[in-house]
Amino acid sequence: MKLKLHLDPDRKVSLKVSKQHKVEFRLRQLMVPPGKKISLKRDYSPGFTGGYHDKTAAVEQLAANVERLAELQERLYADDRYGLLIVFQAMDAAGKDGAIKHVMSGVNPQGCRVTSFKVPSAEELDHDYLWRASRALPGRGTIGIFNRSYYEETLVVRVHSELLAKQKLPPGDVDEDFWRRRFKEMNNFEKYLVHNGIFVLKFFLNLSKSEQRKRFLARIEEPEKNWKFSTADYRERAYWNDYQAAYEDMLRHTSTEVAPWFVIPADNKWFSRLAISAAICAVLESLDLKFPEVSKERRRELQEIQKALEGE
Ligand code: ATP
Ligand code: MG
Repeated sequence: MKLKLHLDPDRKVSLKVSKQHKVEFRLRQLMVPPGKKISLKRDYSPGFTGGYHDKTAAVEQLAANVERLAELQERLYADDRYGLLIVFQAMDAAGKDGAIKHVMSGVNPQGCRVTSFKVPSAEELDHDYLWRASRALPGRGTIGIFNRSYYEETLVVRVHSELLAKQKLPPGDVDEDFWRRRFKEMNNFEKYLVHNGIFVLKFFLNLSKSEQRKRFLARIEEPEKNWKFSTADYRERAYWNDYQAAYEDMLRHTSTEVAPWFVIPADNKWFSRLAISAAICAVLESLDLKFPEVSKERRRELQEIQKALEGE
């Protein structure tokens, strides 16, 4: 069986700005081509907006996508053959939480679960690193959202090697091969999921260092945003270049045909939300989701019950 994510990368996302002006981009522009060495700096601009700078039209389009997503999720649920795992990774203040909140605002909470992955607990460290992720996977008919994920195992754990020491792994060298092996394990894990009807969609919210600075400052200056600011986030900023390198290597080795990474320009929240919602809709629309058909006998049975109820 040839495995492919049922997604058309040439699908256009259109924004009608005015009668004369329409901005379009293709999902392919945001996708990381499998196996290709990429440079975040050179190939992906955090400020990309498809050439458009007024967010009004984008907000309307987002509302339409959110509505469409709600319909598609109902179909996914009724069809009950596929599940969808959506992974979010990003530097702090890139807008993961806001994107999840806005993009998923229309979906029925019964068919959707968000799991946030934090520093692993003692119990979690006593297991293999995919254990906690496996326990949170979506079932058929549902959407699972990972706010951070097992990919942290090649990001924060790679940048801060002392974290690896806590993992009680069998002895061995932690060299390039070690990280390659982790990438392969993740690729295999995702292939396994897709084989089983659980599709995987991965978003890296690509924020610029200067925009992060602005957002941190806003969190300090505006008292109602103070709770969002953590000193630890500020400290992590010192490792910016190490993180960018870790992200590049991860994107390069784990963007696959079955589970591609999307690099979402994140300096403009309205644009990132629009792009994310468009990609999710594209995946669900390509799945040929059907409401279960009602057989003739069942239809007749229902009509009889209807008659009886009306006669009461
Ligand atoms: P927010 O700050 O918006 O609430 P967050 O995702 O930043 O969301 P935090 O509780 O601030 O949540 O941070 C979670 C922390 O857990 C991050 O610093 C992340 O790097 C860390 N983390 C996640 N997975 C792992 C892991 N496998 N090993 C070590 N640290 C991890
Ligand atoms: Mg945080």
